[in-house]
Amino acid sequence: MLSSTHTIPQKNIAIMGATGSIGDSTLSVVSQHPDLYNVVGVTGFSRLDKLLSICQQFKPTYVCVAKEKEATFAQMLSEAHLNCKILIGEQGLVELATLAEVDMVVAAIVGAAGLPSTLAAANAGKTILLANKEALVMAGELMIKAVKQSNAKLLPIDSEHNAIFQCLPTAVQQQRNAIHDDNHGIKKLWLTASGGPFLHKTLDDMKRASVAEAVKHPNWSMGQKISVDSATMMNKGLELIEASFLFDMPVSEIEVVIHPQSIVHSMVEYNDGSFLAQLGSPDMRTPIAHAMAYPDRISSGVERLDIFKLSGLNFVRPDLEKFKCLGLAYQAMQQGSYACIALNASNEIAVQAFLNGDIRLTDIADINEKVLLQAEKQPIGSLQAILAVDKLSREQAHQCIADLNA
Ligand code: NDP
Ligand code: MG
Repeated sequence: MLSSTHTIPQKNIAIMGATGSIGDSTLSVVSQHPDLYNVVGVTGFSRLDKLLSICQQFKPTYVCVAKEKEATFAQMLSEAHLNCKILIGEQGLVELATLAEVDMVVAAIVGAAGLPSTLAAANAGKTILLANKEALVMAGELMIKAVKQSNAKLLPIDSEHNAIFQCLPTAVQQQRNAIHDDNHGIKKLWLTASGGPFLHKTLDDMKRASVAEAVKHPNWSMGQKISVDSATMMNKGLELIEASFLFDMPVSEIEVVIHPQSIVHSMVEYNDGSFLAQLGSPDMRTPIAHAMAYPDRISSGVERLDIFKLSGLNFVRPDLEKFKCLGLAYQAMQQGSYACIALNASNEIAVQAFLNGDIRLTDIADINEKVLLQAEKQPIGSLQAILAVDKLSREQAHQCIADLNA
């Protein structure tokens, strides 16, 4: 394990989405190892007070905010006597993610907004700690191609994917995307899911669910969008697509299993009958610390898992009628990349509409299904093509919401 006496050079980190939940966990790990990590840049979007306090504590050289917040934030920095260089909007995100002095990019912006900077980091050959699963769902082929061409490193910090990564042979870990070339005796990937707050509730309960009930995850503390995605199990659907691209496994060889305790974070099944699993307390600082130090290990501040206190570990099959969004993800992967983009875009619009109180929780799956049906088969070879499908699908989702409320 690394310690302060370890002589590896300090790594420069850019944290995209520093004001969010993954941002919090990353900064918590960084603050425990100031000798190993230097925060070069951070980004925020709407939470300026939080962004300012991050700047006060970590003194980054660069900070990126939305264009309309630039003047206000510049004033805030000046009043706090901080002279960070301000980068602006989407262009600023890309600039930060590709700066020569940045070694490691933590991709933790939520949704499609994170795609351009995550893809730019991949093209620039950075080490990417990937939380922003939507980037892979939208642009899996492009991302993996960019990683290979530029020799970037893509380390998953989504807990399930990080768990799978930890259970893979070193040869696969170090040669990204290599499972399918030589399957190393790997039979199947098992993605665990908690089942979210409605696991033991009926579909009718889900229909009546309030926003507060939907975002109250039993085991994890996360941002609002991923919390709603966990309630509908769209999150597991997005993760299925994420895993397929990350590990080059067809979705038919990836199985989702509900494990309500969230202790086993995922598993790899081998041809000889072995299942390798990664276990730990449900705290994102474990996968983040793992990826930050990979291939070494550092402490994370996570409460130690007390094996003697575990009352039991259960594994059950997901109910695809209740959690229709999970089935839609399998369907989208069978259709092709254009369908994954459409599904992701529709879901982002529908989740926001639910959070705004405009639709019911169960409407999200129906809207996603309708938009997926409308998605037109087409080749996806560029960021422009992705953004065009994304834009059209968002419009279609808005139309579905308008129809529901008409
Ligand atoms: P949060 O909502 O807590 O944080 C999102 C971050 O993105 C914030 O910094 C936010 O800024 C920023 N942001 C939002 N919209 C934009 C935009 N249009 N442009 C630029 N920045 C923007 O989300 P999480 O931290 O929970 O999740 C982040 C990503 O990580 C998601 O893709 C999620 O699926 C993934 N993930 C999260 C896990 C978790 O435990 N939280 C676990 C596994 C994956 P601001 O707050 O200032 O508005
Ligand atoms: Mg996850």
